[in-house]
Amino acid sequence: MDIQILGAHNCESQKSRLVSLLIDEVLAIDAGSLTSSLSFEAQQKLKALLITHEHYDHIRDIPAISMNFYLEKATINVYAPQSVYDTLSTHLLNGLIYPKFLEKPENKPTIRFTVIEPGKSEQIEGYSILALPLNHSIPAVGYQVTSPDGKVIFYTGDSGPGLTDCWQHISPQLLIVEVTASDRFKEAAGNRGHLTPALLKQELIAFRELKGYLPQVITVHMSPGLEAEIEAEIATVAAALDSPISLAYEGMRLHL
Ligand SMILES: [Zn+2]
Ligand SMILES: [Zn+2]
Repeated sequence: MDIQILGAHNCESQKSRLVSLLIDEVLAIDAGSLTSSLSFEAQQKLKALLITHEHYDHIRDIPAISMNFYLEKATINVYAPQSVYDTLSTHLLNGLIYPKFLEKPENKPTIRFTVIEPGKSEQIEGYSILALPLNHSIPAVGYQVTSPDGKVIFYTGDSGPGLTDCWQHISPQLLIVEVTASDRFKEAAGNRGHLTPALLKQELIAFRELKGYLPQVITVHMSPGLEAEIEAEIATVAAALDSPISLAYEGMRLHL
């Protein structure tokens, strides 16, 4: 499994992009930086796009990639909870802000949308996909992705503390987990459904107690202004747990 981190942050600038992952060049998760990171040719290779929740930083490039597919007379397969469909159709792809790509062209809409049910494993383009509900400010899911050759990753999307229920259902070799803020914002971040290094540490201790191991951990969705603090605190957590944890960056590539 080849994993590219297209966007690793929660705020965009010339140097930071909103969160998006690309697996084996065909499966993308979250659309914070899909069009800004991929050539038209690379975009056309996408077979499926999974979305964790409808916050803007995770759906941002859906209108843009839909236009690109529409102009190619192609269809993009999007998988997400129902709430993502409702938000896109009401607020973005509503015929005012942008064309109704969920409904048009008639008979063959540009977006072929499939509702994902949390807790139910789905086969998508040869991958086994399991969506699990997480603790965020709105309903959100994380995705476990198992490749045809048995490699397993889990990506949280946005999540606050309380991942033990989720841990019970997954066994990833690589965990891509959000860490939005540094520990001086621990309480506010936790209340808003985000993690800090100290909050992540508690979740990883629970994971190890439950599963008897820790996967390789990569953090995403960092707030760029807090990144130096987050990095120092993550190093302390990694040392305490004696397990590798690193911060993702735009263009990072991992192989399983
Ligand atoms: Zn969010
Ligand atoms: Zn977010």
